[in-house]
Amino acid sequence: MNLIPLPAFSDNYIWLLQHEGHALVVDPGEAAPVSQWLQNNQHQLDGILVTHHHGDHTGGVASLQAQWQAQVYGPAQEKLNFDFKPLKQGDIFHWHDLAFQTMDVPGHTAGHIAYWTQPAGQAPLLFCGDTLFSGGCGRLFEGTPAQMLATLDQLAQLPGNTRVCCAHEYTLSNLKFARAVEPNNLQLLAYSSECERLRSKNLPTLPAILATELDINPFLRTRHSTVIKAVQKYAQANLQQEAEIFASLRMWKNEFK
Ligand code: ZN
Ligand code: FE
Repeated sequence: MNLIPLPAFSDNYIWLLQHEGHALVVDPGEAAPVSQWLQNNQHQLDGILVTHHHGDHTGGVASLQAQWQAQVYGPAQEKLNFDFKPLKQGDIFHWHDLAFQTMDVPGHTAGHIAYWTQPAGQAPLLFCGDTLFSGGCGRLFEGTPAQMLATLDQLAQLPGNTRVCCAHEYTLSNLKFARAVEPNNLQLLAYSSECERLRSKNLPTLPAILATELDINPFLRTRHSTVIKAVQKYAQANLQQEAEIFASLRMWKNEFK
């Protein structure tokens, strides 16, 4: 089982899983990078996983579906303009010897779902769309801060060696913000250097490792005193509630340059 990030648009990744001439893709916002890869590597497309309704994650689905008769999976709570098998929290489906578990991860969009699977002899995989990014999290377009906090708490419970397959290469700008929040976090500084090295060679910083994210991603660290103090200073208020701190951190990121 091979995991391949296909770059799309300016900073999206379409994740592709490859197994003995067959492939599955996640969030194909455009069809061309997928078609190209399938043609170059002589693979058949079996399945398409969709995490949420945004166009940069769904734009290529209909044409790939028509071309390959691929099985499409998507969020039960969102409207999509193609046929798909609706999935919600706890639903499981199989592809070859992989069992995919569905998680409801509202926040970026109201019906956003994520997929988690454990390939035999390999670290687990999480396809989380625009929910969790390396060093950051998705913008709250449809959900509340409390929802996104609960979502990230749920993801944080997954095994630490989970490979987090985010849908965008936002890592360096996220880490710039993370360093503003926690300038003395040594793991964050080391991780930033490593990601800068990768990007200077035009390599992906992803997948991220969940255990690393727990050490460096401020949106997974809103109960740590360093993050709480930084947020209180930004907000110039003695915020105490978890959801308030998370909301203020997200607002800070939104206006951070
Ligand atoms: Zn999105
Ligand atoms: Fe996106």
